[in-house]
Amino acid sequence: MRKRRLKVYKKKSNHSLLVILGVVILGLLLGRACRDLPRFTLPESEDIILYRSAGRYTEQMDFERYLVGVVAAEMPASFDLEALKAQAVCARTYTYQRLLNGYTYPLGAQVSDDPGTCQAYVSKEEFAAAHPQDTVFYYQKIEQAVAETAGEILIFEGRPVEALYHSTCGGQTEEAADIWGKEAACLHSVPCRWCGNSGYYRKELFFSQQDFAALLGVEADATLQIQEQTSSGRVKRAEIGGKEFSGEEIRSRLGLPSTWFSMETTSDGVKLITRGFGHGLGLCQYGAGGMAAEGYNYREILSHYYEGANIYSL
Ligand SMILES: [Zn+2]
Repeated sequence: MRKRRLKVYKKKSNHSLLVILGVVILGLLLGRACRDLPRFTLPESEDIILYRSAGRYTEQMDFERYLVGVVAAEMPASFDLEALKAQAVCARTYTYQRLLNGYTYPLGAQVSDDPGTCQAYVSKEEFAAAHPQDTVFYYQKIEQAVAETAGEILIFEGRPVEALYHSTCGGQTEEAADIWGKEAACLHSVPCRWCGNSGYYRKELFFSQQDFAALLGVEADATLQIQEQTSSGRVKRAEIGGKEFSGEEIRSRLGLPSTWFSMETTSDGVKLITRGFGHGLGLCQYGAGGMAAEGYNYREILSHYYEGANIYSL
């Protein structure tokens, strides 16, 4: 009887040891998994300091409140909610990435409303003035997009993605490595069949031979020869009348919407056929609008334009 009890006790003891060992191993594994997770903290204060470039002053506001103003300025409020949610995550990631990297703007600001150096922003009053029809409906939709993605950012290998975005890609987004000369996480060239309803999807611009030559500083009968293109088809280098230009230089001098263009000589001048609007990196906003209209949700939209990125909740 004693022996049996002892046996039972021994058996129990082995089992307990196994359980304890299992718990320890699991704990170690979980500990390791937790250590591999990215660690982020919000900026010291929940508020963000925004530089208003037109008036040259700063405004301090809640981080998520700021994002409402960015989404309101950066994407047409008529787009479906899921597109606005994708834009909200992009805007939050872009801002977060800038805060982590310590970007600064005039008067000690952390962000600026100048889209040339940061992201556009409008206050509620400015939005109302620009949207006299359905102001409340549209503004609430934007607030909903920010609220329903609160704290979510795009990450890759524990770091926020450089979540660039642009108006219209024209059918294929740009490969960052082709522009910057080095790989950039999640900024790869992907096909896009959803931005066809943008006015910039394909555009034709006409110049007289004289205007074309004067803007580029070349001979009047000069023609364009593309020397190098990025993998998406955008112009990297071209020769016009014996002079070499970067695609960006031609875009800027002729006021083209993007560096994706070709040229045709017509009887009365030069025709430039352009595709897309903007740099073509990351999210195509009109594409996001098109995907949302087809029923894709914001996670599907983001994973299409930022290949390999994951959504992380702060
Ligand atoms: Zn597109």
